[in-house]
Order: sequence, then structure tokens, then C-alpha cells
Amino acid sequence: MTLAKKLDSLTAPGVLYEKLDDNALRCVACAHRCLIREGKRGICKVRFNAKGELRVPFGYVAALQVDPIEKKPLYHFLSGENALSFGMLGCDLHCDYCQNWFTSQALRDPASERAGQLVREVSAAQLISLAKEADAKIIASTYNEPLISIEWAVEIFKEAKKAGLKTVFISNGNATPEALAYLRPHLDGYKIDLKSMQDKNYRKLGGVLQDILDTIEKAHELGLWVEIVTLVVPGFNDSNAELWDAARFIAEISPNIPWHVTAYHRDYKMMDNHNTPVETLLRAADIGREAGLNHVYAGNVRGLAEEYESTRCSGCSRPLITRRGFTIQNDQITDEGCCPHCGEIIAGEWTDKPKSVNLNKQGIPKLV
Ligand code: SF4
Repeated sequence: MTLAKKLDSLTAPGVLYEKLDDNALRCVACAHRCLIREGKRGICKVRFNAKGELRVPFGYVAALQVDPIEKKPLYHFLSGENALSFGMLGCDLHCDYCQNWFTSQALRDPASERAGQLVREVSAAQLISLAKEADAKIIASTYNEPLISIEWAVEIFKEAKKAGLKTVFISNGNATPEALAYLRPHLDGYKIDLKSMQDKNYRKLGGVLQDILDTIEKAHELGLWVEIVTLVVPGFNDSNAELWDAARFIAEISPNIPWHVTAYHRDYKMMDNHNTPVETLLRAADIGREAGLNHVYAGNVRGLAEEYESTRCSGCSRPLITRRGFTIQNDQITDEGCCPHCGEIIAGEWTDKPKSVNLNKQGIPKLV
């Protein structure tokens, strides 16, 4: 069976779309807002029009893992806890440097045809049982773009909420107000990629800069816990001017939004650019701090950017959570989420039992 046939069989009627004349429809799950005529697919290829009804991915996962929440990366959201992380197939963008291209470019890149072997049928209730067994406090829709399978994520998140779990999206942020409103009752945290501050760069990846900026603003306004990630790619988005633009944009929304600047390594179709030097990441992180952001982190350089791996108090600057990679070495945040030294409230959502955080555990992802 072809991958397309297999994925088409694992679908359900969608919610986020409008019916149009002549059995056409408009999907509003992501900012592409595809007009899809009968028998055709959207840009993501996994949502399609069957006789005037939108069919959307449902009832499967293509990756399932227990990850430290630090790996997402979310550093201010139940830091030290584990997230049952599920991924699907497909994406609405086509980044040349995608590190998950084998699954994200399914149905778009023939080299991803074998990704069908990863597909496992599963119910929302089964996923929640697995999370409980693994003592994961969070369910994360991650690895590929969750917006394109948003109805399935909401089905899982409803079960997660009933079981007392938190829910997060690890997303490119190419959302719509309709998608955010649909998600909001079921979602707690939203990690958004801010891949560039130049629209021409976003166009190369298949998106529009303003759509991502709007999602960041809207998600924060809706009260979701938001953290931003910029993969710093030499020659693509690493100029001082661009990094300043990104940092200022985030700081204007809130200086308490964490900004992760992370290291790129050669992957997929972008093989000519250099891997990101640590000095470049430190320069980006310094810019973030100078722009007024309280929480800036340098990622993918375990142990080489120590100052930017730890969470510092936004009041007195003392280190409160020290990390090395995904490992928590020390956690001093109080039960009330405050600095024990000056009493400052540290922005984010913290475990109410910080003493129970398992220090110095390896922080190694585990396949489920
Ligand atoms: S999720 Fe985005 S790309 Fe996919 S069909 Fe809907 S609007 Fe188009």
C-alpha cells in the first residue's frame, strides 16, 4: 500500500474548515488557508477534500517517546518533568535544514515514502495510559507540525486534561486565530519557532513572517505559556541586525517570554552552511539579554554555554535552576514558583513539588 493510501485510511472528518460552493472547502488549520477542491489535497498533503468533506489525520502516531520537557525545549514549564511526546507525518512548511525531514516531508518528498513503516494505530485513551505508566506529567504534540493534525491533538488533549495532565504544542507557529481559539481550552504551553525576521527567508521555507509574528502575539494574549526558539543558521539569520529584531520583538510582547537560540547542524538539503559556532550562539544570547529579555538560553551545545543553560532570577539574577543539557543539577525555585533569595515570582509554570525534581538524572529520551 502506498504511503498516501495508508495515511488517507487513518483520517476522520475535520473541524477547522469552511464549506464553499461546488464541494470546495477552505481549511483554516494553518495560515496557508488552502482552498481545496473536491478530490484535492492541501499544501500539507495530509488533509484532503473527499466529496466536499475535509478529512484530517486521526488515530495514529509515527513517533512516540518519553522526553524530558527540557528537550522540547520548554525550560519554564514543569521543568524537570517528562513529556509523552507523539509525532505524526507531514508539515505545512518545507525547511531545507529540517532535522525531522524524514517524517515532516512525508507525501512531499519521495525519499520519505518509507516513513509509513513508523505508523502505529492508537487511541487517545491508550496514549494517556502510556503517559501514566511512564509517569509523564505532560503530553506533547511534536516532531512534525501539530497544526496539520490539530483535531487529533485536541482529541488526545481532552483525555489528557481528564487525567490531570498538561498539554503542549511544539510548533512552527504558522497558525490562524481560528486554530488558536479551537486549541485554547485544551492547551497549556506553546513552543513556537521564530526562524527568521526576514519575510524573504520565510518565503523560502514556505511561510510568511507576519503569520508567525501574529501567532506569537496571539498565543501570549490568550494566556498560553509561550517559549520561542530561533535556530541560528550561519549566513541565513545570524546577523546582529536580525537577532536584534527578533529579541526586540519578543521583549515588546513580554520580557518574560523565554528565548532559546539553538545551534544548527548541516542536515537535509542545506549542506553548504557551516554548523553554528558556540561564539555565534553566545553573541545571539547576549543580544537577547541586552534587548531586555529576562530568560535567554543557548541550546544544542551541551556544557559549552553554561551561563545560558541555567534559569536565573529575573529580580536578583542569582541562578535558580542549573542545567547541563537536559539534566537538572539544582532547582531552588520555591513551591510557589518564586526566587528563595529575593521573592521574585519567576514567570512560567513550575512543579508544586520542586523538592521532588529528580536531580542529575540523565535526561535521556526513551522510546515507547
Ligand atoms: S493545514 Fe494548512 S497546509 Fe494543510 S490543508 Fe490546512 S491550510 Fe492547507
